[in-house]
Amino acid sequence: MELKITPLHNWISARIGTPRAAFDRQALERWQFSSLLRMVAYTRQKSPFYREHFAGLGPINSFPDFFRLPFTTAENLMENPHSFVCVSQEQVHRIVSLPTSGTTAKSKRVFFSQEDQALTIDFFRTGMSTLAGAGDRVLILLPGERPGSVGDLLFTALRELGCLPTKYGPVDDERSVLQVIRQEKVNILVGAPVHLYRVACFDHVTNFLSQGQIKAVLTSTDVLPVVVAERLKALWGCEIFDHYGMTETGLGGGVECSAHCGYHMREADLYIEVIDPLTGEVLPDGEEGEVVITTLTRNAMPLIRYRTGDLSHVIPGDCACGSFIKRIAPIKRRWRAGIQIGECTLFQNDLDEVMFQLNGVGDFEASVFVDEQGRDMMRLSLRIMGGKRERVQEEAREVVSRIPGMEELSCNGRLLIEVVDALNPVFAKRRIIDLRPNVQHPTQASR
Ligand SMILES: [Zn+2]
Repeated sequence: MELKITPLHNWISARIGTPRAAFDRQALERWQFSSLLRMVAYTRQKSPFYREHFAGLGPINSFPDFFRLPFTTAENLMENPHSFVCVSQEQVHRIVSLPTSGTTAKSKRVFFSQEDQALTIDFFRTGMSTLAGAGDRVLILLPGERPGSVGDLLFTALRELGCLPTKYGPVDDERSVLQVIRQEKVNILVGAPVHLYRVACFDHVTNFLSQGQIKAVLTSTDVLPVVVAERLKALWGCEIFDHYGMTETGLGGGVECSAHCGYHMREADLYIEVIDPLTGEVLPDGEEGEVVITTLTRNAMPLIRYRTGDLSHVIPGDCACGSFIKRIAPIKRRWRAGIQIGECTLFQNDLDEVMFQLNGVGDFEASVFVDEQGRDMMRLSLRIMGGKRERVQEEAREVVSRIPGMEELSCNGRLLIEVVDALNPVFAKRRIIDLRPNVQHPTQASR
């Protein structure tokens, strides 16, 4: 079967004003380079932060010149977000405050104009057309109450696409989500991976939906564990498309095509680099490093060479779908986000990949703390959906002990596994909670 080319391909060709026949990688990069120059000039003129950040800067005549510009970091966004803003207060349509973990009480703030939001709607409409079309009934399990929120912009985009969207919000109660799916005859879902997985597990144990009702799922907001993608596919018999984005990229960032081999990036709005997080050097395609973005079209708060903290690589070559639009491999880890426990540096994704293999684990939370004897301990709180709790607990201990470095913890009674009825509602990115005193929390600020 021939794969459908990513809809981003023709969209980007149209966005940069190049006819399909002349649209190639060189044409796109030429356009991106002139957009970068425009953005650097614009921010130096309008943003107090960049005026100072780029003071004494030499001329930019090539990409290597551009790669010499200093990075923008999350700390910069926390310190003085207003100094980034390039438009008048009246033109700011939405401000998103992003709480950061760790000791600092400061939050990152990102500002958007109406034009910026229109660009996101445009991307959402195009990206969603990978999996949805006129007449599809889409349930949005993302925050969508506030005007301009991710769920709200997605709702508008889906309407423009001729879909019938319903806003629900993050998954609270699985049964009520399933009721809405049945009532509204929903066939496509958009949500955070583990939220969707909980709904699928609950459906599996209660036999709520008729087989084949869910045609496709778009996962967003958090890392999609490989095992969760596989199990979602198996439980619902649907196709899974993963999306990568963050507030800083303008909510949308990139989306998989039907080849399911990396996210095609929104290259008419973003310039993507992957750098060595230690040296800052730009890495060639295929080499793992930190994703750095430059916004090419936003006017309220453009970001130049912004370090996202996400680790990935550019997938070399053209996609099997026939497009040369840049692809980023699925994000699994964030720079310095691992938790040090014993001899082991553990990432949330390491636990996800083993825990969600287990039948019955619908969700879980991991935390580390210090016991009365001063030992580092790990607690796994499991939310069981189907299956016998003792058996699931036993299996959980077994699979976690197999993670390199974790066996010792388990043997010494330092791994506690408990079953809980409910977990603290998390919508943001899931992470191992570190409750140890005097531990430097791995925030982006510590980078
Ligand atoms: Zn593709």
